[in-house]
Amino acid sequence: MNIPLSQPDITDLERKAVLEVLKTPCLSLGPKVKEFEREIARYAGVKYAVAVNSGTSALHLIIKALNIKDNDEVITTPFSFISSSNCILYERAKPVFVDIKSDTLNIDPELVEGLITPRTKAILAVDVFSNPADWEELERIAKKYSLYLIEDSAEALGSEYRGKKCGSFSDAAIFSFFPNKQITTAGEGGVVLTDNKEIADFCYSARNQGRAQQDGKWLEHIRLGYNYRMPEVCAAMGVAQLERIDEILERRAKVAFLYNQKLKDFKEIELPNNTSSWFVYIIRLNQKYKQEDRDKIIREMADNEIQCSNYFQPIHLQPYYKEGFGFEQGDFPICEQVSQRTIALPFYNNLKEKEIDFIVKTLKKEIRET
Ligand SMILES: *Cc1c(COP(=O)(O)O)cnc(C)c1O
Repeated sequence: MNIPLSQPDITDLERKAVLEVLKTPCLSLGPKVKEFEREIARYAGVKYAVAVNSGTSALHLIIKALNIKDNDEVITTPFSFISSSNCILYERAKPVFVDIKSDTLNIDPELVEGLITPRTKAILAVDVFSNPADWEELERIAKKYSLYLIEDSAEALGSEYRGKKCGSFSDAAIFSFFPNKQITTAGEGGVVLTDNKEIADFCYSARNQGRAQQDGKWLEHIRLGYNYRMPEVCAAMGVAQLERIDEILERRAKVAFLYNQKLKDFKEIELPNNTSSWFVYIIRLNQKYKQEDRDKIIREMADNEIQCSNYFQPIHLQPYYKEGFGFEQGDFPICEQVSQRTIALPFYNNLKEKEIDFIVKTLKKEIRET
């Protein structure tokens, strides 16, 4: 029994949608991308969606669209996947990290105001592990200091906060469609979401080599652009996955429910504090365990053919950040404490109860023996 950490949920509906595109002459810049943009914007409750080839590309376009550049500062979280911080570096701006709250694992708004300087341009918050950041408080701070708000909602498709969907809480937000996310667009994909027409128009142009208009003159380039386009087959799969979104989220909730049931009496760990859509299933070892214990447990699980992961290693402690910017252990203590004890368990729609039983049994045994 080899159990991967994650796995996409592809049915005949998606396969058929992709094959239909392959029968047409149009594989890029066609109707499927437009349809996917319409549907994902409607789902998130925003006016505009710009489909691109990855979540990272989407973040980069937002940084460009907001004209964040050399020596500007962006306040963001060290507890995230690397791209939410790298996108700031792409434009030679500076990520200013702020520690997280140990319950939600999101940016602690109380620490934000103390970090604002005349160079601060934006707050980039992440809905980490699909838990919404404290958008109400972040919005209050952004308004007070005239800062942009950026939402990295890569992990939070379907999550809600105060009756609104994640992806709708800022000047511009993103989703990612990498295969471990709630839905995928055939391997790679992302989208920019915004209510702001100027941001959307900039992104439509910049993803397509800086062309003047989406449907305009083929070779008129009015700005520095990129090839960040989403292929038609990817958009077609995205449309099909989005049609199944309620079923997909229900299946994820059911897997999480089974894990919760089977782990709730196990005192060595804390269960995930998840309030919304499910992206991953992350447990936390109790305080008495150290990072070496956690790493050993992950290795032992792998020896039993169960793939777990150490989401997330703090961004500020990644070698590139330590060497390049002088960050050190101890800079963001809550983030570090949390990240030393978290384990992502295998989590995907088609995970069977029998497999969950095997994972839970093995996990309990390995933790007891540590
Ligand atoms: C997955 C992810 C991204 C990047 O998405 P890609 O599509 O892989 O480029 C960005 N931020 C967070 C928090 C993510 O989890």
